[in-house]
Amino acid sequence: MRRTVLDAGTSSGYGSRARRGVHAILDVETALAAADTAARLRDGVAGGQKISGPAARRALTAAAHAPRFEGRIVPGTFAKKASALLTRDGIVLYDSPDAFLICVVKHDNALCEPDPGATPPRQYDCWPGCGNTARMDAHARLLRERADDLDQLAARTPGPLGTRLRANANRLRETADTHDGTAHTAHTADRLA
Ligand code: SF4
Repeated sequence: MRRTVLDAGTSSGYGSRARRGVHAILDVETALAAADTAARLRDGVAGGQKISGPAARRALTAAAHAPRFEGRIVPGTFAKKASALLTRDGIVLYDSPDAFLICVVKHDNALCEPDPGATPPRQYDCWPGCGNTARMDAHARLLRERADDLDQLAARTPGPLGTRLRANANRLRETADTHDGTAHTAHTADRLA
């Protein structure tokens, strides 16, 4: 759920300023979503969750420096900063619930190969093994829950499709195991890769 709300004057202003176009609105929405993701990461590690992944250290740094709007209306001045924020490569956090991770996209090593000039990654084409991933304990838990769902589905699915579902479930559990075996708390984050 969105934790941040743009103030009403700014929101309605976007509707009437056609020349700024849909891109400005998308930039604001994307930047607010990134701020929400940063807030969830800060809350997670502050609550004792561990974090893993090749971009884990970068994610912690990015979250510590991300704009904070928790508990208050986002000021209209943020709208002017949103686009500039998104162009700062390697420090914008994108929630990727379908891939059970946070993407801290750096365009030069993004396996999904974002379009030239695009700021967001192509999350719908997220690749395992990308160097821009970070996971918290919550992601590992969701990976295991998804694996259990797939196993239940596999039990009702004969033939090769059932076999593939079980293989997918195993792959998700291996990813969760990798998290458990490599994750660190905020206090031991200096040991992250
Ligand atoms: S492949 Fe996935 S983790 Fe890597 S940049 Fe693209 S969306 Fe992010």
